[in-house]
Amino acid sequence: MSITANLLQLKKELDTVHVKLIAVSKTKPVQDIREAYDAGQRIFGENMVQELVEKQPQLPQDIEWHLIGHLQTNKVKYIAPFISLIHSVDSLKLLQEINKQAEKNNRVIDCLLQVYIADEETKYGLGFDEVIELLRSEDFAALKHVRITGLMGIATNTENPKQLKEEFYELKTLFDGIKQSFFRKADYFKEISMGMSADYKIAIEQGSTMVRIGSTIFGGRPKKG
Ligand SMILES: *Cc1c(COP(=O)(O)O)cnc(C)c1O
Repeated sequence: MSITANLLQLKKELDTVHVKLIAVSKTKPVQDIREAYDAGQRIFGENMVQELVEKQPQLPQDIEWHLIGHLQTNKVKYIAPFISLIHSVDSLKLLQEINKQAEKNNRVIDCLLQVYIADEETKYGLGFDEVIELLRSEDFAALKHVRITGLMGIATNTENPKQLKEEFYELKTLFDGIKQSFFRKADYFKEISMGMSADYKIAIEQGSTMVRIGSTIFGGRPKKG
């Protein structure tokens, strides 16, 4: 199927459950993004800063760009002028740098805290206790140019639906607890970014509000290494 057909099919499915679609366009050429844009998609996710800053100027300016991959502090400055949401905040130090660059650009940058939910050693993210520690800290309270709008998690790369369900359930439970403890009056704390091509249906059943989907829309990517 074409990018347009894949996208329209997926949008129909997600609209009925009010889940936001982040079209993950990493490794894909700007023409492919353009096709998805012309089919009505406005939110795109990239995982590498360099690739994102190369593509962004070549595409319509009303695209909302989301950074979904690991972010190094020395690269924040390149995306600070335009990024809509950073899904992958995994340290106070990174958040402080985002705050600094956001201030320089005279804006507030929305961020999600990436939480470690997978049963794998390679995935980035904060532990449950680290999320709470960060939100409790005075250093966090001092940041005026970042806004935490929710949590993000990447589940284990497994086909075991029971395990996926448990991991997504844990993230949703953590979200509910944090909402209650730290953001009770903050309407903006509302996003749970979980679910990719292989597991988004389970993620949605467990309370996802945004799914990050690449290969189902754009087709497969070459395997790394
Ligand atoms: C690549 C990527 C996705 C999308 O993966 P697909 O399996 O192609 O849907 C989602 N989230 C993150 C963090 C990614 O790096």
